[in-house]
Amino acid sequence: MRDLGQALEARRQQHLYRQRRIVEGPQGPRIRIDGRELLNFCSNDYLGLANHPEVVAALKHGADAYGAGSGAAHLVNGHSSAHHALEEELAAFCGRPRALLFSTGYMANLGTVAALTGRGDTVLEDRLNHASLIDAGQLTQADMKRYGHADMDALARRLQAAQGETLIVSDAVFSMDGDLAPLPEMAALARDHDAWLMVDDAHGLGVLGQGGRGSLEHFGLGSDEVPIYMGTLGKGLGSFGAFVSGSEALIETLINESRTYIYTTALPSAVAEATRAALRLVQSESWRREHLAALVARFRTGAEQLGLPMMPSQTAIQPVVLGESESALAASAALMERGILVSAIRPPTVPKAAARLRITLSAAHSEADVDTLLTQLEAIRELWITGASS
Ligand SMILES: *Cc1c(COP(=O)(O)O)cnc(C)c1O
Repeated sequence: MRDLGQALEARRQQHLYRQRRIVEGPQGPRIRIDGRELLNFCSNDYLGLANHPEVVAALKHGADAYGAGSGAAHLVNGHSSAHHALEEELAAFCGRPRALLFSTGYMANLGTVAALTGRGDTVLEDRLNHASLIDAGQLTQADMKRYGHADMDALARRLQAAQGETLIVSDAVFSMDGDLAPLPEMAALARDHDAWLMVDDAHGLGVLGQGGRGSLEHFGLGSDEVPIYMGTLGKGLGSFGAFVSGSEALIETLINESRTYIYTTALPSAVAEATRAALRLVQSESWRREHLAALVARFRTGAEQLGLPMMPSQTAIQPVVLGESESALAASAALMERGILVSAIRPPTVPKAAARLRITLSAAHSEADVDTLLTQLEAIRELWITGASS
């Protein structure tokens, strides 16, 4: 038997030990941890909806109407009128015939890739895809091949060699880098090779595009180009859960064949009601996207002036790559001392020697919050200058 204690100790030595922090109270630009209030720059609550009064009120009303638990899987008797209404609203929002709720994005990805591909087929994935998509590629019986990050020549070569049905699947906004996949080029390649294209828009939905419809709206792509659209509800929408949107036949196939849809309890209806309220706010309050975009621009301008090692991201995800895990941990700890919460992201979540601070901005932040972050990053300059060059 493996000595677990020894393995954990080795992990600690390598600065790869992971620990949770206990949060007291709701998400927001300020968050309480260990009795201290910290300025929060690591939540995925990009629009500031996780603790929005209308979303919270909808959750409470949902609990009054539907109780706490959904009681069963969707195919048994757990599929409520709240779930169904949310699915219809999500489909309309995405401009597609149907949408299907999953309990989490992780499950949506596992269940969709595995339902659409099997032995003899090919799944092609960007090297920096989210862990849930990589795991999906490993769960399916299909042959999974990765290509270099956003490398369209490499994708074209993979397509040339692909066998059987081919599914290309990618993050739309890369979760640890913040950059966008070259979706128009990917759609053209998919069309030329008669392959499916599936996009995971966990970090684009609600945030990108003029109407908040995400990365596809940003690029002006529709269901002909991207037939399988996956979005999560726990990030920009501030709630919980996920969905896949597409054709009637796609959704009916998933209902019938997707094991992570069939063999799990439906998420609570109250959560679906909260998500419906969030979806209304995404549509009615475009100022949240505009304010967020202004904060991103403000942060990038300030960060460039400081000489921070930034990545080419125009989204709310603004990583500062420091290299070694130890450097990222030290910078995160120093910021924490100064009242700023930014998490250090280490391998295997990111490639070796690419540990980073993953800074995320939210529409709930003010300009003054961003200025405070910049001031504190400047104050710990020693840590990121030495970190980045080591
Ligand atoms: C967060 C995330 C997921 C998983 O979604 P959950 O609902 O949190 O399980 C999937 N894909 C990407 C790109 C993500 O960032």
